[in-house]
Amino acid sequence: MNTNRRFTLIARPYGLPKATDFALVDAPLPDLREGEFLIRNHYASLDPAIRGWLDDAPSYLPPIELGDAVRASTVGQVEASRAEGVKPGDWVMGLNGIEQYSVVTRGGFTHPIDAEAVPSVTNYLSAMGAVGLTAYFGVTEVLKPRPGETFLISGAAGAVGSLAGQLGRIAGARVIGIAGGPEKCARLIDHYGFDAAVDYRDKDLDQLSAAIGEAAPNGIDLVFENVGGIGLDATLLHINRDARMALCGLISEYNSAHYGTRNLWQLIVHSARIQGFLVSDYLDRFPKGGAAMAKLIAEDRLRFDEHIEEGIENAFPAFLKLFEGKNQGKLILKLV
Ligand code: NDP
Repeated sequence: MNTNRRFTLIARPYGLPKATDFALVDAPLPDLREGEFLIRNHYASLDPAIRGWLDDAPSYLPPIELGDAVRASTVGQVEASRAEGVKPGDWVMGLNGIEQYSVVTRGGFTHPIDAEAVPSVTNYLSAMGAVGLTAYFGVTEVLKPRPGETFLISGAAGAVGSLAGQLGRIAGARVIGIAGGPEKCARLIDHYGFDAAVDYRDKDLDQLSAAIGEAAPNGIDLVFENVGGIGLDATLLHINRDARMALCGLISEYNSAHYGTRNLWQLIVHSARIQGFLVSDYLDRFPKGGAAMAKLIAEDRLRFDEHIEEGIENAFPAFLKLFEGKNQGKLILKLV
């Protein structure tokens, strides 16, 4: 346990990240100072947000420094501690790095988790973690669906989107998902209980707009936007008066220049509202949201899937799966 294998950023990507932007480094483990503890990271969450943190651009968190481990949420066990009330064996989660060990202090994003309370500790990186809370607060606080409303979700077969759609259905909305490929679209209906699905692949703006129009003949009241690009443009052509849109992510634009949405004028025409949000906006309500998600999961009313890749040496190809649509559920990297 003297070295720490770390997946580090060594060059800032331009466009889609390349393997040469990263390096696996074996670093010595520092001695713990008073108040610090050492976590053995068992799992790291591979999130689209990481792509933004690789850029040297202003954002809600500072860029990852060149030479640092790539920032990621992890769950792990305390290996050694010089912090009061923290003992070896305790399970914790936090915003750390894709690395075998992290040295942390209490507070911030780091907090204890109850590994016995869930079927798998990985659940704290999926439905019981930030992903679940993103769907929960985006739906219940930003959109507030009402029974009978038509609710469209893009990136719908992914970690956030699949939960957002199910939460919309639980609220009584008619739920339509946009996803890539016939398999994912079938899964939206058969597995997650969506009412309709639209396959965006190989469609231009007009074709996508026609497919959305077919799935939403009475227009769209609510949008949970994860993707941006032509999907958002096509969606805007179908919004109803007073539509509400939650802008959660723009994954189709993370590896390229921003697309430049053309149909924003539809917001004016329909007196519609679009609101960006960060899950961290709701930090003080995480316990409430976590309890609500835990209850729905315990009642078997929410389905969620985890896609687990193995080994820190596979961090790069695993991360790319997010941008290739190759993840089936929450993408997680097993480190131990
Ligand atoms: P997902 O599990 O949804 O994985 C990403 C999916 O995005 C892929 O599987 C793929 O699905 C789709 N995708 C990738 N590239 C493209 C593209 N060019 N065009 C269309 N679809 C694409 O990831 P998450 O659930 O973790 O994240 C979903 C979104 O939520 C992201 O935009 C992310 O940034 C955002 N987010 C925002 C948060 C917030 O606080 N605002 C917090 C967490 C996430 P497919 O096969 O269907 O193409």
